[in-house]
Amino acid sequence: MNTAFLGLGAIGRPMAARIAAAGGPLAVWNRTTQRAADFARETGARHATTPADAARDADVVITCLPVSRDVLALLDGPDGLLAGMKKGSTLVDCTSGDPATSRVIAARLAERGIDFIDAPVSGGVTGAEKGTLTVMVGGDASVLDRVRPVLETFGQKIVHCGEIGAGDAVKAVNNAFLAVHVLATAEGLAALKKAGVDPKLALDVINASSGRSNTSMNLFPERVLNRAFPRTFRLALLEKDIGIAAEVARENRVPAPILQLTADLFRIARGELGEVADHVEAVKMVEAWAGVEIA
Ligand code: NDP
Repeated sequence: MNTAFLGLGAIGRPMAARIAAAGGPLAVWNRTTQRAADFARETGARHATTPADAARDADVVITCLPVSRDVLALLDGPDGLLAGMKKGSTLVDCTSGDPATSRVIAARLAERGIDFIDAPVSGGVTGAEKGTLTVMVGGDASVLDRVRPVLETFGQKIVHCGEIGAGDAVKAVNNAFLAVHVLATAEGLAALKKAGVDPKLALDVINASSGRSNTSMNLFPERVLNRAFPRTFRLALLEKDIGIAAEVARENRVPAPILQLTADLFRIARGELGEVADHVEAVKMVEAWAGVEIA
């Protein structure tokens, strides 16, 4: 399939690299041109100068931008996606987006005979590099079937979740759990450290017990205890995700005080730690409040 990829960020770049490695025709576009030029030079992909240019001739256009609004903003204008995408093609949005904006994007595309699925991913940068991402899809199942071969280049578990926006909703709730676990694990381990228990030993116990999570099993041992805090997934993006999850709960009239509180705490963390901090660095906020380092 003739494919275009827009958004060569932390996760988009390795996803696009998997598509390039699979060998089909690929065009790439990135807001910061140099990133697309470097990628094209390294992989043999075509460097497109505008979204419209990238979409030209593409059967599948994949976007992976911070928020759905950014994708919506790429549609219009002489250089926009709608100027380049052909009838019968598909926009696959791998942004961890919000359901309401995805429905707006889908409706705009439908007017032109273009299909849309929301297809956010999970598994991090390493999962993208290995091609083992989980892909959660909202939209028409027959559209997913058509583009599945492209998704299989970077995804291992590809699940049709429901109507347009369903993939976004599942992704937001998944990441809400991640956000809750990061804060709760930090609070618990800070308390244990102050109570005189070694955090490494505590994690060893917890990871063989019922309170364990991906956060306790992987993130804390690999990123917190050793103070590495690698920057792979921006805290600002997780703050966006937990906000979407809280909104999904609100829209569906589900009281969700835990999600709302976590969303507020991540908003504070984003304010304190800034736009480039990694999501696990939220631990530093808890440590500052507790006056202790989890190490
Ligand atoms: P990054 O911040 O690393 O990259 C964002 C990308 O979007 C860059 O290519 C950037 O271009 C581009 N971009 C930003 N704003 C705009 C805009 N207004 N118009 C056009 N392009 C824009 O983000 P990630 O790659 O980490 O995340 C992308 C999406 O994937 C997010 O929704 C995120 O939540 C999700 N995600 C991320 C994961 C991760 O581990 N990093 C894991 C799973 C999902 P430029 O180069 O010019 O800055």
